[in-house]
Amino acid sequence: MPEIIDISVPLVPEMPVWPGNTGVRIVPLRRMATGDKNNLSGLDCGLHTGTHVDAPWHFGPVVEGKPAKRIDEVPLEWCYGDGVLLDFAHKRPYDPITVIDPMKELDRIGDSLKPRDIVLFYTGHYDRHYGKPEWLINYSGFTEEAAAYLLEEKRIKNWGADTPSPDAPGNLAYPVHRVTRRTEIPHMENLYNLHLLAGRRFTFYGFPLKIRGGSGSPIRAVAMMD
Ligand SMILES: [Zn+2]
Repeated sequence: MPEIIDISVPLVPEMPVWPGNTGVRIVPLRRMATGDKNNLSGLDCGLHTGTHVDAPWHFGPVVEGKPAKRIDEVPLEWCYGDGVLLDFAHKRPYDPITVIDPMKELDRIGDSLKPRDIVLFYTGHYDRHYGKPEWLINYSGFTEEAAAYLLEEKRIKNWGADTPSPDAPGNLAYPVHRVTRRTEIPHMENLYNLHLLAGRRFTFYGFPLKIRGGSGSPIRAVAMMD
């Protein structure tokens, strides 16, 4: 059996969420301990909670003159495939990931991306700051040029990091989110355990729930090791 590495954060009531996203409530609807016939739980949370994928529609209604895809319209083919990890743990918070960084890291690991790869980025942010106020503000974001290099030049099909956003903290113009919408390439946020993938190739799986008209969805992201 191939080794499967879980790279999703747990959903728990006290977990941090991005502003505007409702917090997590896990509601005990029925409990056998109090005489019910079964145990039944409810879940209430924003769709951009924990490890999740953003639909192109999250940042605008139109892509190249056509309606932007909502989460239930995202092709499942975009959500699994050949994966590679780029290690940016040496980056300090606020230090931008520029176009030269993925080039240098690919050189270092002796890999070159192929079109349709899924690329994950380990920055160490989760290990340093998850659960603290710094989690929302103290991370490395990509420059618009770095995003354009990966998405338009290297033509990867999906990407994600262990940070709450691919944009630089405080950049309310969201230039990287806009590159992802323009190229109709989804991105994932709040991945976890990515250090376990360093230097290895793997097959990535991270499917969204089929939520009609949704802007995104939590995913159970895993890496199946080659
Ligand atoms: Zn999101």
